[in-house]
Amino acid sequence: MKRKAALNKAMGKVEKLVIIGSGPAGLTAAIYGCRADLEPLVFMGTKYGGQLMLTSEVENFPGFPDPVLGPDLITKMKSQAERLGARLVQEDVVKVNFKTYPFEVYTSGGVTQALTVIIATGANPRRLDLQSEMRLMGKGVSNCAVCDGFFFRGKRVAVVGGGDTAMEEATFLTKFASSVQVIHRRDELRASAALKKEALENPKISFVWDSAVTEVIGEGKVEGIRVKNLKTGVESQMPVDGLFVAIGYEPNTEIFKGQVELDPKGYLAVRNGTESSVPGVFVAGDVHDFRYRQAITAAADGCKALLDAEKFVKQKLEAKIPSR
Ligand code: NAP
Repeated sequence: MKRKAALNKAMGKVEKLVIIGSGPAGLTAAIYGCRADLEPLVFMGTKYGGQLMLTSEVENFPGFPDPVLGPDLITKMKSQAERLGARLVQEDVVKVNFKTYPFEVYTSGGVTQALTVIIATGANPRRLDLQSEMRLMGKGVSNCAVCDGFFFRGKRVAVVGGGDTAMEEATFLTKFASSVQVIHRRDELRASAALKKEALENPKISFVWDSAVTEVIGEGKVEGIRVKNLKTGVESQMPVDGLFVAIGYEPNTEIFKGQVELDPKGYLAVRNGTESSVPGVFVAGDVHDFRYRQAITAAADGCKALLDAEKFVKQKLEAKIPSR
């Protein structure tokens, strides 16, 4: 594929559609792109699949009456896209040039020119950077209460963070868990007034202030956490069955800085549905959506971005072919 990209450039081949990213947003755009005859070329990234690759069982994606593992769901989406004709390339995009047209997308394999580009590079949840957190990810450690809260019916859970996400997750988890302890590094919440009030008034939620989680305890599953009071330095152990890390997200927008507009939080800015600030460059999924962040909403976004991209390409091609 590397040589092919270089060859395409040398031969002046212009792709109709390049998709950057291979989570539910990118792969849904690819599936719809094949059906629209746009012959999509997908740069999946070397670590393809996005956040679903770190998820265990998914129970809320329609069409799967039995739970499906996150990586299996991605494999199915990939197979579907490939069967329909999408070209999936496991390369990272290192640079883009949207100031020229056709657009240019650079990977280790060379430069690809494209009439339209869909950006679906996602976002990564911030981590506590503990070895034990990564070891028990999907085994009691989670970044998504909506996805995993159901598995903690009648169990004790902790949530780390003091922002809107942490308050939303904590409140949501009280539907299932017997108790929810919010561990926050300060004694003041960053969350908006309404979400803060709701959490503070919920009798199932208690707060552990000025504290940080220093270790997740457990072998095959979470059995507890070690928590350090940052003011006194005293460490204690807390028995919990689940730990939800809700300390924010980092959108994967680094390579787009200076090329398309970002919002003040660093996410890609969109207008009129899925348009970026550059006509012909469309956006789908968590790279712009910090609010819903679900596999299904990302997939729906991928579909919308493709429909917008399809219209754009059609107009471009029609403009080149004069009507008789
Ligand atoms: P956020 O606002 O950045 O809050 C992150 C929280 O995690 C903060 O309380 C921060 O502590 C804490 N934190 C950060 N790094 C940490 C670390 N290494 N260890 C321990 N704690 C750490 O992130 P968010 O809550 O995900 O929200 C992101 C954006 O989405 C916000 O603009 C938010 O308003 C928006 N959002 C809106 C809604 C809604 O409207 N319904 C829902 C969710 C999110 P400090 O406070 O000490 O910095």
